Amino acid sequence: MKRSLVPSSAGAAVRAVLRPSTDALRAAGIEDSALNAYQNRLDRGVKGWMHLATANGDLLLATSDAHTATADGLHALRQLGADLGGILAKNKLRHVALDAQPAALTVAEGLALNAYRYTKLFGTKAKDQWTLEQLDVVGSDSAEFATWNALMDGVTEARDLINTPVLQLGSLELAARAEQLGAQHGFKCTVLHKAQIEALKMGGLLGVNKGSVDPPVFIVLEYRGEGAPQEHPTVLVGKGVVYDTGGISLKPSNFMEDMKCDMSGAAAVLGTFCAVAAAKLPVNVVGLIPATDNRLNGNALVPGDVITISNGVTVEVLNTDAEGRLILADALHYAKKYQPKLVIDLATLTGAASRAIGPYATVAMGTADRATWDALQASAGMTHERLVEFPFWDDYKELIKSDIADIKNIGGAEAGMITAGKFLEYFIDYPYVHLDIAGPAFLDRPVAYYGKGGTGVGVRLLTHFLTAQSRA
Ligand SMILES: [Zn+2]
Repeated sequence: MKRSLVPSSAGAAVRAVLRPSTDALRAAGIEDSALNAYQNRLDRGVKGWMHLATANGDLLLATSDAHTATADGLHALRQLGADLGGILAKNKLRHVALDAQPAALTVAEGLALNAYRYTKLFGTKAKDQWTLEQLDVVGSDSAEFATWNALMDGVTEARDLINTPVLQLGSLELAARAEQLGAQHGFKCTVLHKAQIEALKMGGLLGVNKGSVDPPVFIVLEYRGEGAPQEHPTVLVGKGVVYDTGGISLKPSNFMEDMKCDMSGAAAVLGTFCAVAAAKLPVNVVGLIPATDNRLNGNALVPGDVITISNGVTVEVLNTDAEGRLILADALHYAKKYQPKLVIDLATLTGAASRAIGPYATVAMGTADRATWDALQASAGMTHERLVEFPFWDDYKELIKSDIADIKNIGGAEAGMITAGKFLEYFIDYPYVHLDIAGPAFLDRPVAYYGKGGTGVGVRLLTHFLTAQSRA
């Protein structure tokens, strides 16, 4: 989808206009009966679009009076954009000029998120696929548009990465794509390969990788924007399990088919780097992505094995499907060398998180101070990438005690999302936020602005948060 800023929607074959005046519509030659119907909607406070076919092309009119000052207003405007996406898709309209000032970028965001399609793997059916090819946004603030466009590119990149099967996106392809994106958008990307990972004694990443024929990678992203405050970086860590079979603790097939999405955390970190670097935001961030697939071969980890993470903590692996925390452990330990002001990890980590609150929000927990949480929650509200804070009490540590090693990698049936978080706490020494995105990362049905598949959850949240932090 190409997105452009245009001075006016005049002349476009398909125009979508938010709250036009009836005078403007009359001047544009709209018939009285249509005008009356529109006025009627305004009077009744009907939200949503009215579709008119005029002599000059398709015209869509909406009457929402939501505004951009509140989280609820922003959500309503994005939803309006998403509804517009539905109408465009249904009518196979491929080019629209959206005139929704001053809410233009918010409505356009909902539209762009809704109109996203993953079409790269269609072969003979490629020509039949609808896509919104061109979105013209009526407005004049080119700097604001460029920042927004970079954000939409970042979300799109994350969704494409998530939706790409492991056959096309193994660990090495993910690393190559990260390098490409770094060169394209202006952030540094360093890929550590197996020999370096061995030298760093990353026993979690190497352990999970034992069942794979592809090598692991550890991807380091660095971006420091011009004018960024002179302080230690915020580190973003993304789980990059490019495919998760569960390993020897094999998943049932109906729980496995979507497991290309187990690198959604990695995708969110990469998408965020694309957004902040392309927009040249004055922030100082580091991204860490441990990546491997989790499969079975003759040498795969078995339940009962004990491995040693890079900080010396030994882990009894009782379930090889609880692999995300093993690779994150090495990444969280590695993050210490930056003396970070804050570390946020994103991971499709537990079914427990997804079962607790479904696809509607992210499960969050950690050791960061209240001011950090308040700032994160403010960004979560404004982006509708909502967070639900779970307890991080030490009581839960009891559940991951091992008889033969320092800890075990799985608790009992209770509070699985929290025992996973408490596991990760063994590898930190800095303010920490753990985001378990297992619910919202990949959808099996449309939710809010999103269709099925990868959502890129985390990109809009983190970009908003980092932007706000840079201004604080
Ligand atoms: Zn797993």
